[in-house]
Amino acid sequence: MIDVTKIDQIETMILDIPTIRGHVLSMATMRSQAAVLVRIKFSDGSEGIGEGTTIGGLAYGPESPESIQSAIDTYIAPALADWDADDVNGALQLLDKLVRGNRIAKTAVEIALWDGLGKRLGVPVSQLFGGAVTTKMPVAWTLASGNSETDIAEALEMIETRRHNIFKLKIGKRAVRDDVAHVARIKEAVGDAASIRVDVNTAWSLQDARWGLKGLQEVGCELVEQPVPARYLDAMAELTSSYEIAVMADEALNGPEDALAVATHRAADVFAVKIAQSGGLKRASEVISVGQAAGLGLYAGTMLETGLSTAAALQLFSTVETLHWGTELFGPLLLTDEILAEPIVYRDFCVEVPQGNGIGVTLDPDKIEFYRRGGSRILKSAAGE
Ligand SMILES: [Mg+2]
Repeated sequence: MIDVTKIDQIETMILDIPTIRGHVLSMATMRSQAAVLVRIKFSDGSEGIGEGTTIGGLAYGPESPESIQSAIDTYIAPALADWDADDVNGALQLLDKLVRGNRIAKTAVEIALWDGLGKRLGVPVSQLFGGAVTTKMPVAWTLASGNSETDIAEALEMIETRRHNIFKLKIGKRAVRDDVAHVARIKEAVGDAASIRVDVNTAWSLQDARWGLKGLQEVGCELVEQPVPARYLDAMAELTSSYEIAVMADEALNGPEDALAVATHRAADVFAVKIAQSGGLKRASEVISVGQAAGLGLYAGTMLETGLSTAAALQLFSTVETLHWGTELFGPLLLTDEILAEPIVYRDFCVEVPQGNGIGVTLDPDKIEFYRRGGSRILKSAAGE
């Protein structure tokens, strides 16, 4: 009889980690990030870890850290009890039947399943998706202090230290002309040393967006992300066809079905592919396939996850032939502290794919205990242990 490894236990916890500065988005200002950590224990003693994280509580999307945790604890974990640990596709099919939506919760569990499978097989998760074709990728930084001078100083320092030369500016909170003036100042300060892009996070009406895109392309901005609400595909299509500046879909992309709708409407030039928003690594790989088949540009997006989910994303995106617009997988750099035993490496304007089995990273147990909601808030080292 073949000995089947089973899912024994699925644990969750929320980690609250402060950000290095206020992160000002059109819909919320973040001063800390809440990441839902998932740990799956398997019957052979192996483990897998995963993360489900969103932006700004409930301001960005329909899932909150608390809803992610409760969906996993109440519905997903019991459904997967004793499931064949190697049958990731079967587990995903079951979850799609039992749990509607809740993509980020599913993502957290799915990452832990892939991580466990990779560790048991002794291969990186990228191998489970056909193998990595690259070891590093360009990585953007988001300028979102809310102040032009601070953003310029931050950008110049990032260029100087060769950490980033692609900048995404968070706009949409102020009047359109003020935002365009802000972008123009930053573009003037960095010149040709960096690529400048913006993310409006759905804040504009179509009318605002027409003025916005016209102004942005005049000042040398290369790309505008999700200028109008996610469901306004016709407006996105009009903007995509009316201006030279690239239009990227983000909030409009919640899995492969949305990807097909955006591609069919020609409602974007570029897909911001996020593993959490897609519903996991497998669904994200399907979003990528739709984008490739439609001849669209690809970009690896982030939900400002910790190094854990960032590592999982790097495993998948390392298997993609061409990421035309690079990545924004900088999540760990926005946080004041590192929860991984070995941090992800950022250098020479790139993020490097962690080497190792599974998603390629391990957690620092002291940091997990410190940042765990309801935890000790005492670092063992600080306590003299
Ligand atoms: Mg975005």
